[in-house]
Amino acid sequence: MMETDVLVIGAGPAGSAAAKHAALGGASVILIDKKSEIGTPKRCAEGIYDHGLKWLEIEPNPQWAVQRINGGTIIAPDRTRLTLDETILPEKGYIIERKVFDKYMAMDAARAGAKIMVKTLAKSIMKDEDSEGSFYVIDCEHMGEIIEIKASIVIAADGPESRVARAFGINSTTSPKHMMSGVQYEMAGVDCERMDLIELHLGAFAGGGYAWVFPKGDDIANVGIAISSASKRPAIDYLNEVIESYPPLKNAKAVELNVGGDPIGGLIGQIYSDNLLVCSDAAGQVDPITGG
Ligand SMILES: Cc1cc2nc3c(=O)[nH]c(=O)nc-3n(C[C@H](O)[C@H](O)[C@H](O)COP(=O)(O)OP(=O)(O)OC[C@H]3O[C@@H](n4cnc5c(N)ncnc54)[C@H](O)[C@@H]3O)c2cc1C
Repeated sequence: MMETDVLVIGAGPAGSAAAKHAALGGASVILIDKKSEIGTPKRCAEGIYDHGLKWLEIEPNPQWAVQRINGGTIIAPDRTRLTLDETILPEKGYIIERKVFDKYMAMDAARAGAKIMVKTLAKSIMKDEDSEGSFYVIDCEHMGEIIEIKASIVIAADGPESRVARAFGINSTTSPKHMMSGVQYEMAGVDCERMDLIELHLGAFAGGGYAWVFPKGDDIANVGIAISSASKRPAIDYLNEVIESYPPLKNAKAVELNVGGDPIGGLIGQIYSDNLLVCSDAAGQVDPITGG
């Protein structure tokens, strides 16, 4: 059986940041993710504020900070545009390449001393104790084999509707009303007026929500929409309509499709238990404007 002070489940940005800082604090740390490639597939429009990076103590790196963003334009259904750019806004941001960024963060955690285990799915969790105190035993499927990890502390960073939290008896489910359903294309051939501004398109989309064009440099952009998952009509229908009716996307072609849910109902009722911490999307710690 492997043993560690801290087991972090989920190597998204939250899990990697938690693993890095736990390791820097002197704990032995294992960070696991069920995927074979951290960061893939992306479920994100890839926008981040400067203050988010500062908060994570990460310097922007051209490997993943692919487009400087100086502001944004809000576009009303009648195409009235309100631009808030660097002349008004106190802060800038980036469009990042999440597939690279997530791996970069996991590498940071590894450099801080965390052991990273990909293709490792946490399947079940059991609490036990010995003469030294209580601990958890987590059964994981690792490269097709079942392994056990003994951990004093578990951090659940396994994304929306955390199964890990549920295994601890914490209700992490999100009602359909509070789960935004997102769908996005990464497109080439986008012809926006300014590629340093994100665009937010408001419209009569079911259950509120908005569409976006987040430029990624050259003629590339993430073009997506998020609507209430209670909608009877699929989000992709709304997205296709936005694309067909918006001239800057006339020649745009999709090279990737991303789908994902984002919980916008706020914090779940309980985010910790005995030596367990639930964090980020798993805990509902989501900004409903950016989704991040
Ligand atoms: C369409 C869309 C657009 C978005 N756009 C933006 C944006 O522009 N800016 C922004 O800041 N945010 C955006 N978000 C939100 C952002 O993607 C999330 O907030 C962010 O990814 C959450 O990070 P996380 O580390 O909590 O979880 P995740 O990134 O979801 O990572 C969770 C990890 O846990 C792993 N995992 C799950 N279960 C297990 C298990 N049992 N065992 C092992 N591993 C497991 C998964 O494989 C995954 O790698 C968007 C979301 C969506 C859906």
